[in-house]
Amino acid sequence: MKRCCYPGSFDPFTNGHEEIVKRALKLFDEVVILVADNSNKKYTFSLDERVEIIKETFKNYKNVIVESTDGLVVKKAKELNCTCLVRGLRAISDYEYEFSVNATNTFIDKDIDTIYLMASKEYSFLSSSTIKELHKYNQDISSLVPEAVLKMYKKHIKN
Ligand code: ADP
Repeated sequence: MKRCCYPGSFDPFTNGHEEIVKRALKLFDEVVILVADNSNKKYTFSLDERVEIIKETFKNYKNVIVESTDGLVVKKAKELNCTCLVRGLRAISDYEYEFSVNATNTFIDKDIDTIYLMASKEYSFLSSSTIKELHKYNQDISSLVPEAVLKMYKKHIKN
C-alpha cells in the first residue's frame, strides 16, 4: 500500500489542487491531503473551513484522506505513514520556492522525498490568491474551484 502526502495551505482549495490529487492517485494507492496551519500566516478560511471544503470535495473517494497540522509537515507525513510528499509546480517561481522547502524538509528528515507534478496547461495560472482576488472583484470563479468553496464563500457573506 503506497500512500503519499499532499501538503499545502489550500486557502482555498482550487481545481488546480484537485487535479494534482487526482493525478497523484494514479501513482499512489492513497493520498493524504495535509492542510497546514501556520500561526504566522493570516488565512481567509479557517483551518476547519479548509478541511471541510476538501472533505466535501472528495466525499466519494475512499482513497483520499484529509488531515491537518500546525507543526512540521515532514513529521506529520511520517506519522501518517506516507512514503513521500507530492507538490505541484506551475512557474519558475514555484521551482525556486519548492527548492528551498525541499532543502529544509530533507534537512529535517532525509528519508522523506518529494515528487513534483507539473500543473496542467488549463490551471497553470491558477492559485488560491488568484481566486481571492477574482472573488473580491465579484468575478465568476465557479469554473475554477470546487462547489464546496462557493458554498463556504456564501456562508461567509451570511455571517
Ligand atoms: P503552500 O502555501 O504550501 O504553497 P498552496 O495551497 O498554495 O500551499 O499549494 C499547495 C501545492 O499545490 C503547492 O505545491 C503548489 O505549488 C501547488 N499548486 C497550487 N496551485 C496549483 C495549480 N493550479 N496547479 C498545480 N499545482 C498547484
